Amino acid sequence: MRKLVSLLAVVALGVGFLAWAGTNRTVGGGANGNQSGSSRPELEYLKAVNSAAPPQDPQLLFLLMGAYANANQQAEGAEFLTARLNEFGPRLTDAQKSLYLSAIGLLRAQHASTISLLHRIGYVKDTIAMLDQAKRLSGGQIYVVNWISGVVRSQIPNFFHQRRAAQDDLTWCAANIAKAPDIGWLREVDFRLASLALTDGDQVKAQDYLRQSGYKSFDKPVVLTTPFSEDPLSGHAFASRRIAEIVPGRVYALSGFEFTEYYFVVSDNRRELIGIDTGTRTDSAKTAYEALRAYAPNLPELTTIFVTHSHWDHIGGQTYFRGLNPKPRFYARSNYQEEIAGEINGPESIAKHFFGERFNLEDVRNFRPDATVDRPTELKVGGTRIDLFPVHGGETRDAMFIHLPDLACSLSAISSCLTSVRRSL
Ligand SMILES: [Zn+2]
Repeated sequence: MRKLVSLLAVVALGVGFLAWAGTNRTVGGGANGNQSGSSRPELEYLKAVNSAAPPQDPQLLFLLMGAYANANQQAEGAEFLTARLNEFGPRLTDAQKSLYLSAIGLLRAQHASTISLLHRIGYVKDTIAMLDQAKRLSGGQIYVVNWISGVVRSQIPNFFHQRRAAQDDLTWCAANIAKAPDIGWLREVDFRLASLALTDGDQVKAQDYLRQSGYKSFDKPVVLTTPFSEDPLSGHAFASRRIAEIVPGRVYALSGFEFTEYYFVVSDNRRELIGIDTGTRTDSAKTAYEALRAYAPNLPELTTIFVTHSHWDHIGGQTYFRGLNPKPRFYARSNYQEEIAGEINGPESIAKHFFGERFNLEDVRNFRPDATVDRPTELKVGGTRIDLFPVHGGETRDAMFIHLPDLACSLSAISSCLTSVRRSL
């Protein structure tokens, strides 16, 4: 069972347990740790969302957990989620219950240092019992449940005899990284395995795991789990790999395959597929497009591609789509060459830094649309009405908004131009 969960931001995991014998301070809230709820609109928003109903997307539950952790309000968070678990209990599947229990267990773990020593042993045992129950309810196959279990248990003092269970959970997480929301989750697994090996006195193994984790030392106060990644070959990515149906069966958004997103629209007569932009590289375009075909095998052939603007990350994958049979017809602004001329004069080393060694500037230089647009234009593709609007004042001088009036799609929902505006590139 694969859950697309982004456990966001900086989470100070298990510090409470580590503080068992020493300092009595958790990390994460900093100077703002005691801010009232009203000054944290994101936390209040996520509380409201999670109060309405059990979230269908577990990401919302873990976003709330992360918000509580980062606000240093772990006790409030554990209490809030426990209340929701009790309230929604009869409507929840076992898998959903396991996610609640894991989130509560993690918040409790962070909070342990503030529990009086008199009560702490019972508190820790109760928390361990929650993690155990979460594993039972999940059938042992939900990545985030095992990850939280392993990461928390690995930091519990030996007195509680959790090292073996921690080792098992973490080893499972390393072997089943394909079930994780994204590969970034492996980093903490490696770091915790390194820490366990160090405690065992196995220096070689400890250093090997530490190297794999990417951390330079064992002195690391926080856990950073993020879908942001950088790979020398494929450059940056900012999201977990995901195919979302913005309009079910009609508009698909592909994220996390590379630097930018891909969008595809099924025409009204369902005989044509329409692409919005081409991504950055031929290899990532191929990977993304094949993932879409595997996800929705009965999609029609790709006949048309609209280019929102001629930035590298929107036309660099054009060669792959040009190679398809039949060849799709490309539309772009009439002044596209102006934009490309500026880009190819820039230092290529910067582009490779962003987009990876596989990026090929020739794929940008060679871009030639089949049709150009220099004024507001209305056309139909496979019965779908499409309005094209040349616009000024965006990232480039060759921007084009694409509006599908009959699909009730907002401009921002299907315009990857706006996405990249947010990224300031
Ligand atoms: Zn751009």
